[in-house]
Order: sequence, then structure tokens, then C-alpha cells
Amino acid sequence: MILENTEINEVILQRFQRLQNKDRLAHAYLFVGPQGAGKYATAIAVAKLLNCEAPSDDQESLFCGTCLNCKKIDSGNHPDIHFLETEDGGPLKIEHARTLLNHMKMKPFSAPRKIFIIKDIENLTKEAANAILKSLEEPTPNSLLILTTSVIEKNLDTVRSRCHAMHFITSAKTKLADRLTKYYDGNSADAHFLAYFSEGCMGKAKYLKDKGLLAKKDEVIDHFIFSQADDRYTKKILQDKESTRQFLDVLLSWIRDSLLMKVGVSEFNLIHRDRIRDLKKFQSKYTFEELCDLNKEVIQMSRLLSENLNIKIPLMIIKEKLVYG
Ligand SMILES: [Zn+2]
Repeated sequence: MILENTEINEVILQRFQRLQNKDRLAHAYLFVGPQGAGKYATAIAVAKLLNCEAPSDDQESLFCGTCLNCKKIDSGNHPDIHFLETEDGGPLKIEHARTLLNHMKMKPFSAPRKIFIIKDIENLTKEAANAILKSLEEPTPNSLLILTTSVIEKNLDTVRSRCHAMHFITSAKTKLADRLTKYYDGNSADAHFLAYFSEGCMGKAKYLKDKGLLAKKDEVIDHFIFSQADDRYTKKILQDKESTRQFLDVLLSWIRDSLLMKVGVSEFNLIHRDRIRDLKKFQSKYTFEELCDLNKEVIQMSRLLSENLNIKIPLMIIKEKLVYG
């Protein structure tokens, strides 16, 4: 199963903000892109952007996420935002489409326009697609449709031609993970780790693999994070600057992942996706604030290292804070 990507495509969201400001929103949009490109998350973000009670011009957070409208959209309870999707990826049948079309005929309840989000339109049956097509040909005022698809060839030409297409490209990290999987005998867990750890940079990913980072990161997790203090291992970490640097980078990425997991970021976006169970166990032992403190301490150690200062003592202090087992 491909994990749902909850990353919003900011570029597309900003495009919607400009369209709204110029009062040039079209009636229907088709979000096209591979699975996991964040199409659905972005469609929901568009609904929030257009309904937020406290919108902002900050390009990183165009909607507040906390007002009544934003919350209602998150919980699927906004009376003017309608979703059409099947739980198991099965066909979207005509009766589903009819319910939606009935809502479309009604005036918005409180929002300036009603929004209809139809996920994976490749799953529409032919009858359902034809019914939706009718609504595209004869748009009702004050309604906005956002359709998503990952296989554009499969969709009715007529549906496509009546929507403004917006293309989603997966992030550099996802693309690199795909390439690395092919390159390294189909091991997608290792490929994911290398791609995310190297921030999507192919050269760096290869370098890290050649340097044996995959084995080293498991060592850091098993012999430092999840075990009793071990002098021999500490010595190994501190033997030279490059080993120490790699150790700190892995430790930092682990704590960051734990923080992200704590705030509910999807597994798709974590670096250590191959160690999800360990991450869950680890983060459950700390509060958010404690994890932030650990994060700060590791960053501080990186600074000391850059200044060629000894990090043995801060390293022992942080080890004591790690509850192993
Ligand atoms: Zn809001």
C-alpha cells in the first residue's frame, strides 16, 4: 500500500490564493500526479484557504488551521465542503455521484461557494463519470470542483477537457528514492532512508552508501539509542571527526523524526521509515518538550564539534537521558 502523503504542494496552494485574490477561480480543477504526490492533502488545503476565518499572507501558512472553518474541514463536517472517495479504492458508483450532484444544486450554507473534492477519479464507473461530466458542462454558480487522478490516460477525455489541469510533481526525495530502489536491487527501505537522509541529493546519497552509512545508522540506533552506555562504542564514535559527525547527524535525524511523529506527520515523510516501530516506542517515552530539548542538545554538540571541541561529556549526559529498552 502506498502511504498517503500529507505534504501540501505550496506552489499550487499559492496559485489558488492568487486566483482567489483576482477573483478568477474556475469552476473545476483536475489535480494530476503520481500516488503520494500530495494531491488530496492539497485539495483539502485549498478548501481551508478559501474558507479560513483568519487567512494570512505568509506563504508558508496561508490558512490558520485552527479557526472553526478550518477545523470543520479537517473533521469532514463543513456543510459546504463535500468529499467523494471510496474507503478501499473500489469503484465510485453512480449513487455516490448522484448524492454529490444533489448537494451541488443547493445553495451554499455559509461559505461563499460549495467545494466538491473527488478523489482518484480513475475509480469512477462510466455512469458516475458521465453524471459528473454533466455538472462540468453545466456548472452551478458558487461551486468549485477539485478532482484528483494519478492515471490521466484512464479518464474520460471529456472530463479532462473541461477541467483546468494542475500537475503535481513528487518531491526530489521521492524521485530519488525511486531511482535508488532500481539502482540497489529493489531495496526500497534502504533507498528511502538514503534519499531522505541526503535531502534528495543523488551524489550525497551515493557517497553515504559507499561510506557504509546504512550499517552505521543501525549501529547508532541499536548501540546508542536503545542500549546501555557502552565505552567501546563511545570510543568508536569519537575516534575521528567524520565518525562523530555522522553519528550526530543520525542521532539528530532520529530525534527530528520522533518530534515529527509526535505532531502527527505521516510516516511517508520520516527519514527512518524502516524503523517505524522503534520510533514509536522511542517517542512515546518523551514529551514534546523533552524531545525539543534533546534536539537542542544534539545541535549544540554539532556546534562544539565544528569548533573542534571535545563532546565526550555532553555525549555522556545525553546518553543518560535516553531511556533504553
Ligand atoms: Zn482557519
